[in-house]
Amino acid sequence: MTGTRVLVLNSGSSSVKYQLLDMSDSSRLAQGLVERIGEQTSRLKHTPLATGESRERSGPIHDHDAALKAVAEELAQDGLGLDSPELAAIGHRVVHGGKHFTEPTVIDDAVLAEIERLIPVAPLHNPANLTGIRTARALRPDLPQVAVFDTAFHTTMPESAARYAIDVKTADEHRIRRYGFHGTSHAYVSRATAALLGRAPEEVNVIVLHLGNGASASAVRGGKCVDTSMGLTPLEGLVMGTRSGDADPAVIFHLARVGGMSIDEIDTLLNKKSGLIGLCGDNDMREIRRRVDEGDEQAKLAFDIYIHRLKKYIGAYYAVLGRVDAVVFTAGVGENAAPVRAAAVADLETLGLAVDDELNAVRGDEPRLISPAGARVKVAVVPTDEELEIATQTYALVESNGYAAPPQGN
Ligand code: ADP
Repeated sequence: MTGTRVLVLNSGSSSVKYQLLDMSDSSRLAQGLVERIGEQTSRLKHTPLATGESRERSGPIHDHDAALKAVAEELAQDGLGLDSPELAAIGHRVVHGGKHFTEPTVIDDAVLAEIERLIPVAPLHNPANLTGIRTARALRPDLPQVAVFDTAFHTTMPESAARYAIDVKTADEHRIRRYGFHGTSHAYVSRATAALLGRAPEEVNVIVLHLGNGASASAVRGGKCVDTSMGLTPLEGLVMGTRSGDADPAVIFHLARVGGMSIDEIDTLLNKKSGLIGLCGDNDMREIRRRVDEGDEQAKLAFDIYIHRLKKYIGAYYAVLGRVDAVVFTAGVGENAAPVRAAAVADLETLGLAVDDELNAVRGDEPRLISPAGARVKVAVVPTDEELEIATQTYALVESNGYAAPPQGN
């Protein structure tokens, strides 16, 4: 293998996000997004980082194959073509890797079949991820392609955290257990937090709060995940932009029996019309804070419910870990919303937790501490970088294998 570039692909059902990185210095060469694939109004936005000047295409892009070809053309225009010998591998974000994919994995036909077998537990995500992989393999069959699973970091959870207390036989038959998601981010951020503290990941216990539109918390002991808030699907846990997070499962029976709703309607309600948007009509924390500052009661209640749940998880994971070295905020809300960070740890001084208001108000792209000097438990903001983590894991794998692509049967 001679090249050092890695293309990272995150394929959704109607979108593809991508970044091209050079792993000789972890720099970003280009990034972009194709949206509304399959519609008349598809759009591709491409940014070569050398100039920072974005280019856009609009008009129908019929499928993922056409989307990836359009991306390849844009990259070629910048002298970064996918046919370049500089390209070492393609790294794919795959949402659900089940119990067995504990590591990034070079994709062969057997791996594809296993990702397909997991579709019943990830009906929204894995089919789109598979389409992206198949398209990329067709485009560069000679190139190693690596799957980096959102669930992998959480496979170290003990059975006591990973199992639901439901009939074991039924659970096993349907592969019902807590898998957790956002694992790439939790892995990256927990490691970066250890670096910020100047310590090895094996030495520190960290509570990671990934607060984006989707949100999840994890308890990381010595670099290994021991609990996380998302479960069989990303619906469990924290209050999110549009997802309810934790709710009594009997809410579902009640809505079906008494509310006359179908299972699909309840699924949509809890995943797309609940959380912050269901509580106050907005899911953007900037807008919610603006409304709270204007005295809007509904926005205030939504904010309070969001914080109450967050605090409960901080307390729970404190107890799970026993000793906590740092609580770290990341993703869109965690990195930007100082009021969320302040409220989440308010009145927790007896646990050694506090934020310094001045440090908390500082904005920036670098990992930083926001707890008062000398605090027993550090509070930190660490911007996540899932693409860099996927590229790093992909490159490490193909480099260590001196790697050639496996034969393809489809
Ligand atoms: P995802 O990857 O889950 O789509 P992100 O991590 O990009 O989400 O986070 C998006 C969310 O971050 C937005 O919905 C918004 O609530 C929040 N956000 C972004 N910027 C700010 C900001 N400056 N202040 C407060 N919240 C912000």
